Amino acid sequence: MPATSMDQLVNLCKRRGFAFQSADIYGGLQGVYDYGPLGVELKNNIKAAWWRSMVYERDDVEGLDTSILTMRKVLQYSGHESTFSDPLQDCKKCKARFRADHVKDGKCPECGSTDLTEVRSFNTMFKTNFGPVDDGSVFVYLRPETCQSIFTQFKNVIDSTARKVPFGIAQIGKSFRNEITARNFMFRQREFEQMELEFFVKPGTDLEWMEKWKDYCLKWWEAQGLDLSKMNVHDIAKEDLAHYSKKTYDLEYQFPHGLDELMGIADRQDYDLGNHSRHQEELNLVAHVHKNPDSTAKLAVYDEEEKKWYVPFVIEPSIGVDRAFLAIMTEAYNEEKLPNGETRTVLKLKKHLAPVKVAVIPLKRNNEQIVALAHQIKTDLLKTGIGRVMLEDSGNIGKAYRRHDEIGTPLCITVDFESIEQSPATVTLRNRDTMAQERVAVADLPKYLKEFFGA
Ligand code: ATP
Repeated sequence: MPATSMDQLVNLCKRRGFAFQSADIYGGLQGVYDYGPLGVELKNNIKAAWWRSMVYERDDVEGLDTSILTMRKVLQYSGHESTFSDPLQDCKKCKARFRADHVKDGKCPECGSTDLTEVRSFNTMFKTNFGPVDDGSVFVYLRPETCQSIFTQFKNVIDSTARKVPFGIAQIGKSFRNEITARNFMFRQREFEQMELEFFVKPGTDLEWMEKWKDYCLKWWEAQGLDLSKMNVHDIAKEDLAHYSKKTYDLEYQFPHGLDELMGIADRQDYDLGNHSRHQEELNLVAHVHKNPDSTAKLAVYDEEEKKWYVPFVIEPSIGVDRAFLAIMTEAYNEEKLPNGETRTVLKLKKHLAPVKVAVIPLKRNNEQIVALAHQIKTDLLKTGIGRVMLEDSGNIGKAYRRHDEIGTPLCITVDFESIEQSPATVTLRNRDTMAQERVAVADLPKYLKEFFGA
């Protein structure tokens, strides 16, 4: 049975070291999480899988890693400074603050009082002092999304790579939003990570590319283990689209708290490059942009066939890494009834995402020969490049299997007396999903594992 409540995941994450609330020992910082020893591995594996699919396996995407500190002008011209805000209301009775669109029938969602303030705007961007003066007069923003610097570096990337449209720029990095209602575990946080791709296309081909990217993304989610029958492609109604968007798909997933947005794919037309470009009046922009007397670059490309400059449209598939983490954990979590009546919790993660690929378990932690062979096997297997191989010398084989089922380790290798007494040496290999055990020669392990993990 998969995870049915957020509590199951929160408990597993804390118990086994996937994620903890930030500053837990001081009561916790709301809406901010720290990834633990296994969480950092899973998160890195998710990001590596995305980078591989978006950058390495394609021939039309480059990567970028830009700064978090963002010059004010960037977010003024992008439109964020004037619009990146939530309309809010306060309850005068219980003092709760909530988003105005969460108020039903004029009642406070916390206590039901109808004594509410007027709707006010609350800017969700974090800012911080920049340079030696500490009076707030010179500040920068912590970026609220990773993509703005992809637009501001568009010309540098083109000039340095000679890329031609259609092509994309991918980036993974932290974003910050002072969310009013940070909740549902890592679903809505104040500090989170995004994997964003800006794919630049010729106007007129944009809707075609929207479909291609929707299909590519769905396939990617399936490869990460999500059941597509639990996903919904929400084609945003015209009247609900942002003014610059021609079309947007929200890919939604059945999280423990309900069906909710996992990622967005938006046709943003020429709004972003147009906003940051000089000489906007010469560019026949479709989107309604902010006048920009400060930019020093024309963010356009030359069409050799039509002999004219144009601003590419952009298709943006944007994923929250933390939401990906939560969806993948939700899907992988399983409580299984065993034939002997016991229940086991097993994380059926795809092999490439598993934080630990193989656990090598010496049956007796005080037997020098067994421990030395286990060490040797670990060292040899690491060289295969399959990922993390861990020496698990807790001493109790039953507990070790339970722990590795719970953290999703696909294979356990047990080194026992037979391993050191017989020649050629063999070990027991146990499969997480089937729990089947087989005896394999130590010399065959690297080949076996390379095939198993497709490395
Ligand atoms: P929502 O409607 O849930 O607030 P959004 O439409 O504002 O999300 P975008 O600005 O399109 O989100 O950001 C792209 C992706 O970044 C989202 O689909 C989501 O996966 C992720 N994301 C956005 N805000 C957060 C957050 N506060 N915490 C975690 N992930 C987030």
